[in-house]
Amino acid sequence: MPRTIPQLIDGQWRESRARELIEVTDPATQDVLALAPKATAEEIEAAVASAQSAFASWREVPVPERARLMLRYQQLLKEHHDELAELLARETGKTFADAKGDVWRGIEVVEHAANVASLMMGETAENIARDIDIASWVQPLGVCVGITPFNFPAMIPLWMFPLAIACGNTFVLKPSEQDPLTPNRLAELFLEAGAPGGVLQVLHGGREQVDALLTHPDVRAISFVGSVPVGQHIYRTGTAHLKRVQAFAGAKNHMVVLPDAHKEQVLSNLVGASCGAAGQRCMAISVAVFVGESRAWIPELAEQMATLRPGHWKDAQAAFGPLISQQARQRVLRLIAEGKAEGAECLLDGSRCEVEGFPQGNWLGPTLFRGVTTRMGLYREEIFGPVLICLEVDTLDEAIALVNANPYGNGTSLFTRSGGAARHFQHAVEVGQVGINVPIPVPLPFFSFTGWKGSFYGDLHAYGKQAVRFYTETKTVTSRWFDDAPVTGPNMTIHLK
Ligand code: NAD
Repeated sequence: MPRTIPQLIDGQWRESRARELIEVTDPATQDVLALAPKATAEEIEAAVASAQSAFASWREVPVPERARLMLRYQQLLKEHHDELAELLARETGKTFADAKGDVWRGIEVVEHAANVASLMMGETAENIARDIDIASWVQPLGVCVGITPFNFPAMIPLWMFPLAIACGNTFVLKPSEQDPLTPNRLAELFLEAGAPGGVLQVLHGGREQVDALLTHPDVRAISFVGSVPVGQHIYRTGTAHLKRVQAFAGAKNHMVVLPDAHKEQVLSNLVGASCGAAGQRCMAISVAVFVGESRAWIPELAEQMATLRPGHWKDAQAAFGPLISQQARQRVLRLIAEGKAEGAECLLDGSRCEVEGFPQGNWLGPTLFRGVTTRMGLYREEIFGPVLICLEVDTLDEAIALVNANPYGNGTSLFTRSGGAARHFQHAVEVGQVGINVPIPVPLPFFSFTGWKGSFYGDLHAYGKQAVRFYTETKTVTSRWFDDAPVTGPNMTIHLK
């Protein structure tokens, strides 16, 4: 009988009283790895109440002490890097190397959160009126909530709770019900690093649990990453309940290829950026736009993609793993079939993919289409599988117009050897994260993750300075001191903590 995973409430790992349980399956075998509870209304209430009460003391903990917690945490995450990656690979199916990358990208945010003191500095101006000075202070909000997707079960929770907590907030995490084991382990290590009870809570479940958090009067801010319809629901509901919301949603990322680009670089970057993690990355390249003569490279792209072989996470030769669920696989199969029916030319078809020894896995092989138009479902929908579609245009400006007309704006890239073309593209393209000869331009944590248009609802983005502003409020103090104020004696000691 698989075990039911506990929830972290008020500093304790507690068995849920939920009657409804969700199966967490191994996507390569369909084995049930564990059961996740759907948190009850009482458990949600208890978690928020504990976070609210912990906030009163946590906000008073000096900033350097909060930063030191992050230093201990990043060290522990590094010590447990392989163990976390193995757990993550089991429940997502990602290859071990890719699972390590997922954890690593999260560790980098924790390293950044250790710099919180300098990120939270306010501003001052002297003598803004006679004898009057003004200063701004940056203060935490209170209880923040994080709702995370299946595709990065380490990185995305770590985008959120370390920075929010370093800023002095408390946090309730509701990870994806499809892979909640890694987030639970991240929380265990956070407690081991010395996080006081109540500062982080972890609840499990789906829509009902999320809705209870979105509408809870004691929740101040909500961070969400996931699909478009859910992102819109989260943004609408959260803001209707007067909360601060940042919602990162789906994408359709184009890579534009100019004929002067380095052909071998283009092809290998396209192969990796489209099929890595079985295409289940919000920054995956799912559309290749070939400009002019570069379209002659498409047959060679098909040959290179055909060499990719999906496999089990323990198989070091596997290029990528299975899709997360049977439903996800069925969805991608439907889009592939519809694309063929709509007249797109399928150069490589991964629909009938088998992996020896794993007949039940959610496998899909690399798939490549050309002759796709912007009206086809293959272009309009986010596929989220190892499927790349090719469009062909005559000029760079046509390519830019195509990208700009797309409703999403998460990431895009241009491959070229021309500085002038690159400058024009990066300036004119209406997408929040642009790569020049870099296929997946995910910014490091000292910048922010800046998706645009239909890929993001809100204004302040994830991690970096923007996240610190999202998780804090600015208080300005205007002060004047009179000459006859009492004078206190000097303080002769240095505080050690
Ligand atoms: P999802 O929207 O199905 O689920 C995300 C979270 O929302 C989960 O915790 C889930 O339990 C919860 N949820 C699901 N349905 C809900 C509902 N009706 N009401 C309230 N909450 C609900 O997303 P997913 O399939 O787990 O993740 C894949 C999606 O995430 C893709 O669209 C991908 O592009 C997107 N994504 C975006 C980014 C980004 O930064 N823009 C990053 C990673 C993933």
